[in-house]
Amino acid sequence: MGSVLVFIDVPSLPLPRAARELLAIAASIGEPVVASPRPLSGEIAAELGRHGARALYEPARPLPDVLIAAKAAFLAEAVKAAGPAAVLLGNSFEDREVAARVGIKLGSGVITDAVAVAPDLSVTKSVLAGSFTSTCRVETGVPIITVKANSVEPVEAGGGADPERSFVTVPETGPAATVTERSEKRVSGRPELSEARVIVAGGRGVDGDFGPLEELADLLGGAVGASRAATDAGWIEHSAQVGQTGKTVSPQLYISAGISGAIQQKAGMQTAKVIVAINKDSDAPVFEIADFGVVGDLFSVLPQAAAEIRRRRA
Ligand SMILES: Cc1cc2nc3c(=O)[nH]c(=O)nc-3n(C[C@H](O)[C@H](O)[C@H](O)COP(=O)(O)OP(=O)(O)OC[C@H]3O[C@@H](n4cnc5c(N)ncnc54)[C@H](O)[C@@H]3O)c2cc1C
Repeated sequence: MGSVLVFIDVPSLPLPRAARELLAIAASIGEPVVASPRPLSGEIAAELGRHGARALYEPARPLPDVLIAAKAAFLAEAVKAAGPAAVLLGNSFEDREVAARVGIKLGSGVITDAVAVAPDLSVTKSVLAGSFTSTCRVETGVPIITVKANSVEPVEAGGGADPERSFVTVPETGPAATVTERSEKRVSGRPELSEARVIVAGGRGVDGDFGPLEELADLLGGAVGASRAATDAGWIEHSAQVGQTGKTVSPQLYISAGISGAIQQKAGMQTAKVIVAINKDSDAPVFEIADFGVVGDLFSVLPQAAAEIRRRRA
């Protein structure tokens, strides 16, 4: 097997877990090389080398504005330069759009929602809202595969050599859209929802008070998620929404509190390894997919769980 090109949109220090997971998959099937649409500092380049990257591809000139069309144009050129056996990206909306555009540019097949990639490049996917897994393979062009977060253990830093750096010329993508304003996301100190290993999610049952959920999430080093009822009510930002029209998550542990478990909510979280549901209504549909269920008031159950964790840690 030759090289496997990993697209890392925003390489930063420490290297994000999602990037280290992609590097781990790349190393299991070939020689990892990285394409970054942003110029890399020496420290980040060295860190990528310590995590197994043998070569780095960057744009020869900074992209005019790092829009999806420009990222796709860059990645397509990087693929031509690197000649990899496969290309791996994350599974965010944006990464999937980049993958689709590169697929069209290169006439290559694209597989999204992968949870595993075998050395023969057959891909395991989670389909129909996580109810089934399917195995598939790209037959045309260079396989372009987007992989869900938390699918594998990430690669740890070793003593790899500094990777070779190459700069690719990116063709003009023409007028598309212009970014008129950027505002920094409020920093919560919690992990990114789609990468979090633990998520405590609340619905209409929280009645506007996410305090007990935040407390438990912080004790477990997790993120806070929500149903659409909670985000529509304005109790929490829309980026916290889990489900069909929100984020798809696959944490090790998903604690659902005051969420009925509508099909659109399940679509985004039922591939979680362990689901714990807390609901006052013993007939709530969420209990159909829960590994552990607590019939009770979340304002009583969550503080007790937090107190017990503190007691055991003391
Ligand atoms: C096209 C489309 C897309 C959608 N996309 C999404 C999506 O991405 N994500 C999503 O979540 N929804 C989505 N929905 C909405 C979805 O159908 C449900 O309406 C929504 O998930 C309900 O949210 P909920 O469970 O918080 O509220 P409810 O269904 O009202 O449930 C609240 C639950 O809280 C329980 N409860 C109340 N008080 C307490 C308490 N004190 N302690 C414990 N339990 C309590 C109740 O028993 C109840 O089961 C979508 C709908 C459509 C039509």
